[in-house]
Amino acid sequence: MFKKILIANRGEIALRVLRACQEMGIKSVVVYSEADRDAKYVRLADEAVCIGPAPSAQSYLSMPAIISTAEVTDAEAIHPGYGFLSENADFAERVEQSGFTFIGPTPESIRMMGDKVSAKQTMIKAGVPCVPGSEGALPEDPKEIIRIARSIGYPVIIKAAGGGGGRGMRVVHTEAALVNAVQMTKTEAGAAFGNPAVYMEKFLENPRHVEIQVLADTFRNAVWLGERDCSMQRRHQKIIEEAPAPGIPRRVIEKVGDRCAAACKKMGYRGAGTFEFLYENGEFYFIEMNTRVQVEHPVTELVTGIDIVQQQIRIAAGEKLPFTQRQIQMHGHAIECRINAENPYNFLPSPGRITMWHPPGGPGVRVDSHAYTNYFVPPNYDSMIGKVIVHGDTREQALARMRMALNETVVEGIQTNIPLHRELMVDAKFVQGGTSIHYLEGWLSSHN
Ligand code: ADP
Repeated sequence: MFKKILIANRGEIALRVLRACQEMGIKSVVVYSEADRDAKYVRLADEAVCIGPAPSAQSYLSMPAIISTAEVTDAEAIHPGYGFLSENADFAERVEQSGFTFIGPTPESIRMMGDKVSAKQTMIKAGVPCVPGSEGALPEDPKEIIRIARSIGYPVIIKAAGGGGGRGMRVVHTEAALVNAVQMTKTEAGAAFGNPAVYMEKFLENPRHVEIQVLADTFRNAVWLGERDCSMQRRHQKIIEEAPAPGIPRRVIEKVGDRCAAACKKMGYRGAGTFEFLYENGEFYFIEMNTRVQVEHPVTELVTGIDIVQQQIRIAAGEKLPFTQRQIQMHGHAIECRINAENPYNFLPSPGRITMWHPPGGPGVRVDSHAYTNYFVPPNYDSMIGKVIVHGDTREQALARMRMALNETVVEGIQTNIPLHRELMVDAKFVQGGTSIHYLEGWLSSHN
């Protein structure tokens, strides 16, 4: 096992990885920007190194700063968390070329999944069901593009091969708008992602977002750890996640889960990963794979009892998965609410000093947050300041626990989206379960 790991991230995930290291008896190095000097994990880590000023480009995205910190502190491995450099294949490559272990998949896997066209082709070959669409990137010839759209059937969605974060997509309802829409998406994709390639998919009108968590070791063992329903989204940003997904027959999920694990074995995937699907009319359609730990991983940890971050570290250290698929059992129900420093109704960021932080507790309640009373939320980064996660024997019990937990939570000095979460936890449709990815935006426009 590693003796020392460098954590190349910030915020709650830096603390989450730090906790995994401490529990495993591994020394930790955190890197931080000038804006994060007072972060909790900076004090809790064995070593902390300031790598630059607040802007991410000069700190958390600076490969030389991070790699040279690993060198001077004698760290053996680097955990990238999520966001920042976590899905940057060049970073993974440079980490390994510098003699460190990257706690994540191989650069080849990251690269293949980072290009959505090659990701989809890999999945089709591995028997993972995908959204019907173009075979690969769209050609130049407008006649060909029109032919492809006709064969898929309108509405269609044009997506950038290099897209991410919900950007680089355009829905097209009519043939008249098609060719122009393709051109515009290409131009935008070239500017935003440095890759003008786009592809086409059937636009699903009312799907749910359901994803499968996988773990794979370097001995070609791969398992899936159930699913998460992340349909509560605003502008493609998830705000509530739960496991299991309400109301979907187990055999349908087992079939797709087994396909995901088989795909991991086929492509020689290693580490943790997530296969994201849209689910509509009883069918799963792959949209993309994330090659890192996800924000919402705790709901899976609570229902399976498996520590995903510790497993990432063990896999990177060359250990075999300690369980088989049959040994993985799901118990009860878990829900996560992302706590953002923002106005709950107009979503404007609300950075600043937290004058009072009182997290909830009690049976089945977990809080992953780096915040504390007197902590200053910097304006430079993502607005998420933590997550409240609950577990119960049933979905009803988990909902009751989340309502209590949110009522107990006190955050003063800044605005948070907790009032919004409190309303959603008593919303009849959410309580019933199974709402689509458009539900929250509809709810917001009818409640404002
Ligand atoms: P990103 O990497 O930018 O998150 P995804 O491919 O995961 O891109 O898609 C993001 C979101 O866009 C999905 O969660 C869904 O809301 C919507 N979306 C993507 N593809 C489709 C599709 N074929 N039909 C309907 N909605 C889609």
